[in-house]
Amino acid sequence: MVSDAAGPAPNAQQILKDIFGYSAFRDGQAEVIEHTIAGKDVLVLLPTGGGKSLCYQIPAIVREGTGIVVSPLISLMQDQVEQLREAGVKAAYLNSSLSNEEYQARVKKLQDGFYDIIYVSPERLLQRAFLNMLSHTKIALFAVDEAHCVSHWGHDFRQDYRELGMLKQRFHDIPVIGLTATADTTTQQDIQIQLGLDEPLVYKGSFDRPNIRYRVIAKYKPFEQIVTYIRQQDGGSGIIYCNSRAKVDDLSAKLHRQGFRSAAYHAGMDADERAWVQRQFITDKIDVVVATVAFGMGINKSNVRFVVHHDVPRSIESYYQETGRAGRDGLPAEALLLFDEKDSARVKQWIEQGNLADRNAIELQKFAAMEAFAEAQTCRRQVLLNYFSEFSDKACGNCDICLDPPRPFDGLQVAQKVLSCILRVQQQYATQYIIDILRGKNLKRLQEAGHDKLSTWGIGKDHNDQYWHNIINQLIHRGLIRVDIASHAVLRLTEAARPVLKGEIAVELATPRLEIKAEKPVKPA
Ligand code: ADP
Ligand code: ZN
Repeated sequence: MVSDAAGPAPNAQQILKDIFGYSAFRDGQAEVIEHTIAGKDVLVLLPTGGGKSLCYQIPAIVREGTGIVVSPLISLMQDQVEQLREAGVKAAYLNSSLSNEEYQARVKKLQDGFYDIIYVSPERLLQRAFLNMLSHTKIALFAVDEAHCVSHWGHDFRQDYRELGMLKQRFHDIPVIGLTATADTTTQQDIQIQLGLDEPLVYKGSFDRPNIRYRVIAKYKPFEQIVTYIRQQDGGSGIIYCNSRAKVDDLSAKLHRQGFRSAAYHAGMDADERAWVQRQFITDKIDVVVATVAFGMGINKSNVRFVVHHDVPRSIESYYQETGRAGRDGLPAEALLLFDEKDSARVKQWIEQGNLADRNAIELQKFAAMEAFAEAQTCRRQVLLNYFSEFSDKACGNCDICLDPPRPFDGLQVAQKVLSCILRVQQQYATQYIIDILRGKNLKRLQEAGHDKLSTWGIGKDHNDQYWHNIINQLIHRGLIRVDIASHAVLRLTEAARPVLKGEIAVELATPRLEIKAEKPVKPA
């Protein structure tokens, strides 16, 4: 406690001002803090940057005893403790980075009731000796940060988090406050159950991040697209997510060769190397980190200007978390997804190969929502927020769809060109080959197969590769073409293509958006 025993207990508002230097609580904070001080359980769902830390720090200071904060990442603990100490709060962390001597000294002080707040890793907390020691220590509360890690449905399940449910059983009088930036209802309910929260107050804030502009473009030549994109960013920092370590290494090396200040980050690198990359990024020594999903939690960098997804994520939750690392300073930022129908087909195949049928079904549903976001023809922010049950009926004005709405055109002729081209080559070739024929390219491969003699050779000369790519994707999306993933991604016609070829039905397509526009993101009013 900050006050001495004789004085009145400091109130939350006073602490907000005196210690943290803020004049008012943000939405939800006061309510959450009040509940926790009163000794009740709480679950806080607020987006990254929403102000979750104060929700447990202030009650930990106000309530008698020490607040025990479970946090999964050492770097995160250190940052938090440093900031608290600067503000004059008695805080420390206990984790494997400490020497035995230092550890013992801190434990002694903890037992003596010296600290307001102690950060501890879940492994440490769950050790029997540690729990026994806590039984003889005055505890103000338990805060479980990144609480979604207890749930299989969250995007970052951790086995030791799962066991945190015992806290409530063993220390039933002590309030537990769970905090997460995950918004979906399944995970939320699971957290409540796993932590054994007792009729908790559930506070869910808005998950909208109005300063992030969402944008999806057809993945066409990803490396060139990414290079063009980064060049437009005026040296702003960004993260590029890829779905495999090999791709991360490859893309990072290529960007490096192009002269970008970039580095790779994935779980296959050793800890020192990863820490180095993280430091370089946080201190603006490198501009671009090419990473797998291993890069993220605990990256406390406020001025990330863009997040690019080279590959489509497996759920909106992951996508939201990853894009959420952009623009934490509230300034304009952008999330760009390179989307390709073929990637999508592959993801579905991976999911279906999973062992647990129930699990697969849920994952397929989650992925279907992600796909719907990528393919949306209406405001993307609405799609995103609706997914998190945050319904809004007005378009945002700060996504690609709002800024450049799809323009429909009568696509019967272009569809017929593509479909007949696929038919002429016996449905045995993949996208690029079909485009090469459409555009009448003089390639050896085509000539050897005699495909430069086809009636469809050169019927699509008037447009570039990217245009046809986009059209083919739209036709796949509409179920006129199927990508045969099992057979080198060759394109095949479906039954639905027949009436189109015969000209019996109309096909409305969206005018492809091609080049990446260089305009700057603007902050919405
Ligand atoms: P989260 O843990 O939800 O990602 P933080 O707790 O790190 O978010 O808070 C994000 C930023 O907002 C921090 O810089 C924090 O000091 C600031 N902040 C939190 N609450 C308030 C408030 N009531 N007034 C002003 N700034 C605040
Ligand atoms: Zn919009």
